[in-house]
Amino acid sequence: MDAVFCVNAPKLKTHIETEISGCLKNIFGTADTETRKKCHNSTSWKRLADAIVDVYSVKPPQFHVMDAIESMEGDGPSHGRPAKTGFVLAGANALAVDWAAAAIMGYDNPADIPLLASVVSRGMGPASRGEISLVGAEWDELPLKGFKKSSGYVRALPVFLRGVGYRLVSVTPRLDPDKCVKCGICASVCPVGAILLERGAKAGFPSVEKHKCVRCLCCHEMCPTGAMTAHKNLFARLIEKSRA
Ligand code: SF4
Ligand code: SF4
Repeated sequence: MDAVFCVNAPKLKTHIETEISGCLKNIFGTADTETRKKCHNSTSWKRLADAIVDVYSVKPPQFHVMDAIESMEGDGPSHGRPAKTGFVLAGANALAVDWAAAAIMGYDNPADIPLLASVVSRGMGPASRGEISLVGAEWDELPLKGFKKSSGYVRALPVFLRGVGYRLVSVTPRLDPDKCVKCGICASVCPVGAILLERGAKAGFPSVEKHKCVRCLCCHEMCPTGAMTAHKNLFARLIEKSRA
């Protein structure tokens, strides 16, 4: 917090909750575990994005250098797959750099991503592509053909449907017991205590209490073996197909 000059060095990844993990999301990692848990504890599609920007706003770094040489596509930040994107992005404004990163990922209007929209609404960065001076490349050169975005389904809905959509579009944690090593990490990171570790015949296996789960997918994100999968209901799969 006392540093005179701070350089932020994120990696470009997709993110199953926020769609993009770049400059803004990287700083969220500096918050303590309890704060991050509280921020994830929400059924509002907008609250996590706002919380990330709140944390970012405490001490914004002066410069950002993003490694987008080899990025992550799919359901990052933990269970996506590598994608060669071939860029290093740098700039003094986090939103401008994340905007260019989102363009690489194939977003036509990055300001539609709730995380970036939250920054735009606070006037902390460019509100349109025209306000960003891109040096070293043209906007048309950025989108990587075939890049697989994250399963951020809610954003695909019209704005007036997003509140309802959050409830209808179900992406929930589901255990694949064959991959589970009973480490208990999923239970320790769950922000609402919705995961219990079984006793008896299934001792050590995690069990999700559905009525408590707020579908933040932190357990999926932090599971080291991919045993806690992100299960998509029919509506979610249909939207994913329409976005392909
Ligand atoms: S069970 Fe998983 S998805 Fe549900 S609230 Fe806990 S960490 Fe989030
Ligand atoms: S984090 Fe993954 S491997 Fe560990 S107990 Fe949970 S589901 Fe099993």
